[in-house]
Amino acid sequence: MVIGHGMVGARLTEEIRRRDPDGERVALSVLGAEPRPAYNRVLLSTVLAGGLGAGMVALPAVPGVDLHVGVAATGIDRVARVVHADDGTTHPYDELVLATGCRAWLPPVEGLGGGEDGVGDGGAPAPGVSVFRDLDDCDRIRAAAVPGARIAVVGGGLLGVEAARGLAGRGVAVTLVHPRTHLMEQRLDAGAGAVLAAALGAAGVDVRCGVTATAWDPATGLDCDDGSRIAADGVVVAAGVRANTALAAEAGLAVDRGVLVDDRLATADGRVHAVGDCAQHTGAAPGLVQSGWEQAAVLADLLTGADPAARYRGTRPVTRLKAAGIDLAALGEIESGDELLRVSDPRGGRYGVLALRDDRVTGAVLIGLPDATATITGLYDSGAPAPEDRLALLLGRAVPPDVAPAAEPARMPGSTVVCRCNTVTKNTLVTTWRAGARDVEALCRRTRAATGCGGCRDAVRGIRDWLERADPAGATGADPAREDAA
Ligand SMILES: Cc1cc2nc3c(=O)[nH]c(=O)nc-3n(C[C@H](O)[C@H](O)[C@H](O)COP(=O)(O)OP(=O)(O)OC[C@H]3O[C@@H](n4cnc5c(N)ncnc54)[C@H](O)[C@@H]3O)c2cc1C
Repeated sequence: MVIGHGMVGARLTEEIRRRDPDGERVALSVLGAEPRPAYNRVLLSTVLAGGLGAGMVALPAVPGVDLHVGVAATGIDRVARVVHADDGTTHPYDELVLATGCRAWLPPVEGLGGGEDGVGDGGAPAPGVSVFRDLDDCDRIRAAAVPGARIAVVGGGLLGVEAARGLAGRGVAVTLVHPRTHLMEQRLDAGAGAVLAAALGAAGVDVRCGVTATAWDPATGLDCDDGSRIAADGVVVAAGVRANTALAAEAGLAVDRGVLVDDRLATADGRVHAVGDCAQHTGAAPGLVQSGWEQAAVLADLLTGADPAARYRGTRPVTRLKAAGIDLAALGEIESGDELLRVSDPRGGRYGVLALRDDRVTGAVLIGLPDATATITGLYDSGAPAPEDRLALLLGRAVPPDVAPAAEPARMPGSTVVCRCNTVTKNTLVTTWRAGARDVEALCRRTRAATGCGGCRDAVRGIRDWLERADPAGATGADPAREDAA
């Protein structure tokens, strides 16, 4: 039984049915509190920006699942092994998986709404205020985002930046208020934050860092602690998230920032597991879907018995901004003692920091350097040694023999990971194309490429175009990938 039909709960059911298609080993039932089946939440930023219709984010239905949408679990009885739901039903389980995700956090700012402690559980956002977590939030924000409207975005993390850029692209006058000294401070250093702020400014966003919102009044606007008042018709709050852990805590399970799990994704009760944003594992990158998807694959191996030795050891974080005209990636961690290289070209909108240890890439922040991003991400993923000329690497001019930019599919080794979200290699795309998936949609559907953040869609298209040119008959027996496949 799975509680939560979001990106990771849905992925878990898919992974289980891949291993147990006829349900001979695992019967699956799922409760999902949202009024619709799972959809790709990551793509909501693209929907807000107008790059995708809201109807295009649904995740494929998985057969053989007893799915109850619009039904929330309200309690877990671990002794009787049943889950109670808000429609009065009870659901027995042998194994229980919590995939309840996160909720948006409303900071304790007068007039924004929320509960007594400022957390959004105790009440809805006030009129004119929206958080940005689900499809309904996205619809609400889009409805308010008419050209000429004035919207204040509270919070300059990844979500706030994406929301601000998307709204500006819709012709909205956007002011972004961020209490820290620079944007996305959890992933970027001050130099990168300044280049990002300049890029947002060029896109029409009024960025105000070091400024905290203090009160919202729809009649007058958003007051800030520097004495300024932002005239705004509405507010989008992107001030962070909190894991949905109440069910676990009430059931007596250990909870910190999330539900504590071990390498088997199990809580102290071996029959109760947690995956995705609601889980806390020492190696996971919080708030990134890739961690949850990797956890889902491990748990599916364990629950179906496909691989009883499977363990989740952690995820190497990669953050990519989905904002038109701003190419930004943050990989891994940059730690003191690393070999560091930095280039800063604020005028050209380019900034790069590269961290290496023992000749391997351990972290990077890259803005406006797409070729370097492709090459450095490839090195980071493969763990291959970096070329001697670090500066050429950081400027995107070094192409080591086993890592080539996605723009050159013919030269790209077969083992290159094209889709990081789903670990889809060039070889998998070639094989799938040769098995009959001839257009980009079919390739993505069958391999899952571009179904995460969607950032690799152009690379998939490039590979598909190259295959069509290299082997137009498709079944000639010639293998366009043969020479370079690893
Ligand atoms: C706009 C936006 C952009 C993002 N961009 C990126 C990105 O670029 N890269 C990235 O890695 N991540 C991104 N994320 C984060 C990513 O969406 C999450 O990491 C991912 O959705 C986590 O999946 P999950 O299943 O754990 O949680 P969710 O997808 O939140 O799903 C949890 C589900 O559980 C349901 N639920 C909760 N409590 C109960 C209950 N008691 N009973 C039944 N159901 C319940 C919820 O209603 C929800 O449907 C983004 C998020 C947003 C909002």
